[in-house]
Amino acid sequence: MNDRIWLSPPHMSLNKLEIDYMLDAMAKNWVAPLGENVNGFEKDVRERIGRSQATALISGTSAIHLALKAAGVTDGQIVLCQSLTFSGSANPIRYVQATPVFIDSSLETWNMDLDYLEEALKTYDNIGAVLSVDIYGLGNDYERMEALCKKYGVPLIEDAAEALGSRYNGRPAGSFGDYSIISFNGNKILTTSGGGVLLHDNAEMDQRIRYWATQARDPAPYYEHSEIGYNYRLSNITAGIGRGQMTVLDERLAQKKFIYNYYKEHLQDLEGIRFMPEIPHHEPNYWLTCMVLESHVTPAEVIAALEKGNIESRRIWKPMHLQPVFKGCDYVGGTVAQTLFEKGVCLPSGTAMSEEDLARIVGIIRSLWS
Ligand SMILES: *Cc1c(COP(=O)(O)O)cnc(C)c1O
Repeated sequence: MNDRIWLSPPHMSLNKLEIDYMLDAMAKNWVAPLGENVNGFEKDVRERIGRSQATALISGTSAIHLALKAAGVTDGQIVLCQSLTFSGSANPIRYVQATPVFIDSSLETWNMDLDYLEEALKTYDNIGAVLSVDIYGLGNDYERMEALCKKYGVPLIEDAAEALGSRYNGRPAGSFGDYSIISFNGNKILTTSGGGVLLHDNAEMDQRIRYWATQARDPAPYYEHSEIGYNYRLSNITAGIGRGQMTVLDERLAQKKFIYNYYKEHLQDLEGIRFMPEIPHHEPNYWLTCMVLESHVTPAEVIAALEKGNIESRRIWKPMHLQPVFKGCDYVGGTVAQTLFEKGVCLPSGTAMSEEDLARIVGIIRSLWS
């Protein structure tokens, strides 16, 4: 049996800098959710993305939760949320007792369709925030989205969980809207094993975010709490992994792009295969290479054939408006997100893959068309 090829496994730096940072934290006994690695990691991410504030948290999901709180979303408000995404985007809307209204994607970007967004902004009252996603590292037309949100006076949150290193019109993913988040989960382009960063430019709010993330401890000589808090701070040990990982982001971006181009070059002649959109002024990070099949071969057949070869692949995210847990929520749009889900496949995109691995994958896929 060939070695298993995973969809998107972690990939440590060549010189294993991650271990040095972790060992340093242990040697100094900074085995806590505070310390040099947390500070250093926050600085690395802040500077890379170009925002003034960054808080390292235990996950991208917790970062979205605190972004919603920071944006002032409360009980009973509506959050306009991209439907084509992972549940980690949408679940925190429920954590703050708000109601999601899901918005379809456009075929052009796979992300929130801004005509539908505008329609929703006109239709609903009491909108607490817009939650935009950079799916698979693709971006959206943020100039138009920021203008729309401004016009309607609604805060914008960018879920750039999958998009570290992507750019739109030269601006980095994670720099848009009032608040933005990056995930460092084990399957993302870089990882802290589990983690996330919340970014913004509001120094006052930074204090609030850190307060909520450390159990909302009031300044008192004993434990006093006037708000509900959370235990969300990233550990100084795993932040060390993040510091090591941040040193190889540019390398990983080049590798992800190579993988996308390899698949495209070796598969695009097959009947009915389309790849993720390539859009002028967008430089995605190609976190996962995805293809859409308008063919006699189905996504299920591709996934099963790869699995037989000990290779992991996945369907595209099942849209939130089709999830049992969000049954009954409003939806604005048509069938773009649903069609991408039904026809899409995410191909193995691990940056440690060799060209032989890629050839093995391509060979299995091509065999289904012959
Ligand atoms: C991974 C992901 C999240 C959640 O991040 P975690 O770090 O896994 O909590 C949120 N949104 C999107 C689009 C993601 O892909």
